[in-house]
Amino acid sequence: MRELTVYNTMTRRKETFVPVTEGEAKIYVCGVTPYNHPHIGNARPFVTWDVIRRYLAHVGYKVTYVQNFTDVDDKIINTSNGEGVPWDEVANRYIDSYFEVMDALGVERADIYPRVSTHIPDIIEMISVLIDKGYAYALDGDVYYSVEKFEHYGQLSGRTLDDMEAGARIEVDGRKKNPMDFALWKAAKPGEPYWESPWGNGRPGWHIECSAMSQKYLGEEFDFHGGGSDLIFPHHENEIAQSEGCSGHHPTVKYWLHNGFITIDSEKMSKSLNNFFLVKDILEQYSPDVLRYFLLSTHYRSPLDFSDERLEEAIKSLERLNTAIDNLLYLETREPASCDEAQRLLEQAKKYEEEFEAAMSDDFNTALATSSMFGLAKEINIYYQAVSSREGVVCQEAIAEVKRIFKLMTDIIGVLTKSWEPKDNAGAEDYEQLMDVILSVRQECRNQKQWALADCIRDRLADIGITIEDSPNGARWKKREI
Ligand SMILES: [Zn+2]
Repeated sequence: MRELTVYNTMTRRKETFVPVTEGEAKIYVCGVTPYNHPHIGNARPFVTWDVIRRYLAHVGYKVTYVQNFTDVDDKIINTSNGEGVPWDEVANRYIDSYFEVMDALGVERADIYPRVSTHIPDIIEMISVLIDKGYAYALDGDVYYSVEKFEHYGQLSGRTLDDMEAGARIEVDGRKKNPMDFALWKAAKPGEPYWESPWGNGRPGWHIECSAMSQKYLGEEFDFHGGGSDLIFPHHENEIAQSEGCSGHHPTVKYWLHNGFITIDSEKMSKSLNNFFLVKDILEQYSPDVLRYFLLSTHYRSPLDFSDERLEEAIKSLERLNTAIDNLLYLETREPASCDEAQRLLEQAKKYEEEFEAAMSDDFNTALATSSMFGLAKEINIYYQAVSSREGVVCQEAIAEVKRIFKLMTDIIGVLTKSWEPKDNAGAEDYEQLMDVILSVRQECRNQKQWALADCIRDRLADIGITIEDSPNGARWKKREI
């Protein structure tokens, strides 16, 4: 199996991936709190992990992927109270919305999507163990984790307890043993959902769910844990304290992988700046492939700046790749013949396949991997130009091999999936005829010097993705496929 290296936030360096169980890759990624539609920042980790999963499976690992829904949370309760609808109705509505946009983006479904509300007994069990082992203490219906009891606390974020206290804006609660102690269980307040527990009615704190659910489905030690870099502290730091405190196993997670932030036109995304972009709104303007490609065009650990210019660039990039696919599919239909001229194409395709895999095996560097796709697309187009004007000179063995390599790349990155499918030609003839009529009407307008009307026809067609190119031989039209 090909060797992979990954950057581990815990050790702050790249390490060779050695799975806990040979041949398997077990992954837990923190999911969304469903109190609103997913925004662009939510989409990044899920698209990233979708590609990581695809690549691990391609290399030969059996992948198990778990991603939770935090369906019990202050924000959901606030929305529920604000709208006067039950909290679970709010959660279900936005879980549906999550699936709708992630399905559109081609994100494969996780093996398991555990929810807090259906894992309360597991959470209570874990809290009880932590109390028994001396890591946690009950206090007036709440339960807190005692951070001083856990020797590795601060290891992931690289902070000491003193640093944390100095940096934290927390209300001082004199009842706690240490100001950094965090809630595992919160006593019920009026108007909130609650469950029975040994400490009275209440609900879980935020962090405990990911410990309880990751251990339940992936065991005391698993391979990868992912999420946005904003989750390193306190969420993931607390998760380690809970999981390792409970199981006594160190480490619980072998490799911690964190995504960089997304900025909008170089500014931090925030509701107050009114630059808070929902995925569903972006998808009204751009195709899912464009958004997905944009998210993967930068390495997952680097910051990513979202702007219309970058999305327009993504459209151009995908159009280039799409042209190469069209050319390959066309060449595939030609008569087979001599393979002499195809040697260069074949050698270059193998070189780019190797480069693609090397980039993906080096901390899943999608930004570098996509450059191999462009290199290969260019070679395909060169070959196409050289042979398409002549009859019967296409080497079908080479075309089949190049197609395998190019499709492998687009399948792992997860874009242009439909471009490989046979084109649906139903209605194509009618479409052509209709366009001929429109173009001839436009030409008549031009002949009569009705320029405004001719331009109007061109602009209206552009609005629906059809571009007109005027040339000395008349106008040609092209439908945008990306
Ligand atoms: Zn989590």
